[in-house]
Amino acid sequence: MRLGQRLTLILVAITVILVAPAVYGLFALRQLEQVAYNLSTRDAVGALSLGRLQTAFRDLDNAQRIFLALATQPEERSAAAERAMDASATVEAELERLRDGGYGPATREAERAWATLHAAIAEEQRLVLEGAVAEADAHRELAVDPAVREMDRALDPIGEAINQAGAEQVRQAQTIAARASTTTLLALAAALLIALLIGAWTGRQLLRPVAELRRGMGSVAGGEFEQSLHISPDRPDEIGDLARSFTVMAQELAALDRLKAEFVSIASHELKTPLSVIRGYVSLLRDEVYGSITAEQKKVLGSVGDQTDRLGRLIQQLLDVSRFEAGVGRLEVRPVPLRPFIDELALSFEALAVQNEIDFSVKVEPDLPPSIDGDADRLNEVVGNLLANAFKFTPRSGRIELRAKRGRAPSDALVVEVEDSGIGIPEDQVPRIFDKFYQVENEAHPKSMGTGLGLAISKEIVEAHGGTIGATSAVGKGTTFRIVLPSASPGGGEPPVASKG
Ligand code: ADP
Repeated sequence: MRLGQRLTLILVAITVILVAPAVYGLFALRQLEQVAYNLSTRDAVGALSLGRLQTAFRDLDNAQRIFLALATQPEERSAAAERAMDASATVEAELERLRDGGYGPATREAERAWATLHAAIAEEQRLVLEGAVAEADAHRELAVDPAVREMDRALDPIGEAINQAGAEQVRQAQTIAARASTTTLLALAAALLIALLIGAWTGRQLLRPVAELRRGMGSVAGGEFEQSLHISPDRPDEIGDLARSFTVMAQELAALDRLKAEFVSIASHELKTPLSVIRGYVSLLRDEVYGSITAEQKKVLGSVGDQTDRLGRLIQQLLDVSRFEAGVGRLEVRPVPLRPFIDELALSFEALAVQNEIDFSVKVEPDLPPSIDGDADRLNEVVGNLLANAFKFTPRSGRIELRAKRGRAPSDALVVEVEDSGIGIPEDQVPRIFDKFYQVENEAHPKSMGTGLGLAISKEIVEAHGGTIGATSAVGKGTTFRIVLPSASPGGGEPPVASKG
């Protein structure tokens, strides 16, 4: 799946997760609304109706009593008769409304009682109208009053039904609200869980490979071209495309790097032969093997000889660095007795110290290990290079110290330090001085005659011995280089192959 599709999927999932509880909440609200509507319409209207019905019923009873009391006064009683008619119309209308409003079963008894009462009242009126007042009185006691009481009783179930319906609606509302809050909480918990899962999935699918790519890029930028990424090469999305391009790029860079090292190695090797021929002829000419030469010519030949030597050194350095880079720089490892090793180095720089009026001291601590395993010539080259740099960058009457001591961890390691009171190196440039061809750039540093390869080769040699090299420096105060070498070099007695990086 491509990245765009994945992101769309994530967006859709998040939308669904967010919308689902909201939709459920809306649904619950609609149910609550219906309950509220029922309460406010059906039940409230029912209660009103019942109230009107009860009032009309009492009104009818009163009017009928007045009608009976005024039985002998036709003019006055007609008003009571009219009131009774209105009241009975209201009773009928309200009974009908209650029946249609959903209280059918509860009104059935009241309807029956009303039919009896209605008939009893009609009979009472008929007797009064016919002038049979005594019979009317008897009829009231026998029929009308019991019918009134019956009607009164029959209205109670309607009130109860209305109350029950209201209570039922409230219960329903409570159930809906409780269910809605539980379900919404569950939906929210599920949404949280799904969001966490989506986060973890996104991290796995997108962030991890991006971090892996960044790591690979960083290694390539640091010169480590032999990179393999922990990203499946069959991955079908943009990250897979990037990983494949990265692998191809790293392989091509590695091939180019090898080609460059091989080229430098071959080219420098080929240069060595004609150079030694030139050096040989210059020497023969200076020794006047081919006839005598003038002092001027001797001077020129001396200069040609110096430049040829310089070129020879440069070619040797190029050859060294390319051999170590290609992993074919070999060390001739055997025990190196340390005292003679340091003494020899010190001796070779004494003349230079006198010449430059430098206070050159050598400090060898008494607990120095007697020997370490290593390539004496290569190690001599390393410390010699550090001392040569110290003399190069320390002005007259400066101070240089060569120190050799036992290391702390491991305790049989050798620590060699070269400290000078020279011009120093700006702090930000210190880590770069071990890069190939790097030379410090500022006014204090004289345009050096060097190549910028000495420290790079030194680092390769020290690391091939399983050791470390570093420097601390302060501009105008001086520089200290420190080498730590294990007592036994990697590979035991076998000459180890220098590894790259
Ligand atoms: P180079 O052949 O130019 O001396 P190196 O690799 O030996 O090459 O040194 C790299 C650079 O580090 C030098 O050009 C110089 O600028 C700086 N450097 C090395 N040693 C010292 C030192 N003791 N004091 C000041 N700068 C130094």
